[in-house]
Amino acid sequence: MNKQELICINCPIGCHLEVTKTDQGLKVSGNQCKRGEIYAVNEITAPSRVLTSTVRVNSSFLRRLPVRTNKPIPKSMIFQAMEIIDKIVVNTPITIGDVITDNLMRTGVDLIASRSLSE
Ligand code: SF4
Repeated sequence: MNKQELICINCPIGCHLEVTKTDQGLKVSGNQCKRGEIYAVNEITAPSRVLTSTVRVNSSFLRRLPVRTNKPIPKSMIFQAMEIIDKIVVNTPITIGDVITDNLMRTGVDLIASRSLSE
């Protein structure tokens, strides 16, 4: 396929992007700013996402703690990452931003707490 259409997710404008493969590389049109071009090229060549999920927690207040990766990870690794995250159990207290697992799957990306939990 020489052309692909995408919607930029970097801001609420949601520009409709068209990516064309040319002999000189990928050509992006429809973007109103440089971020759209960067997003489109990344989405075609190495798609990645910030992963949000929850982990089990030993707490009398909440049974699961919301977590997220501190940077995007490759989309191809998300299923395996979810299997790892599903086995994690943490103890309180937790402070928002605490590293739950560092270097998740050797990506250099950390899994961090999305909220604090005192008990
Ligand atoms: S290309 Fe720029 S203006 Fe358009 S949606 Fe993406 S970030 Fe927003």
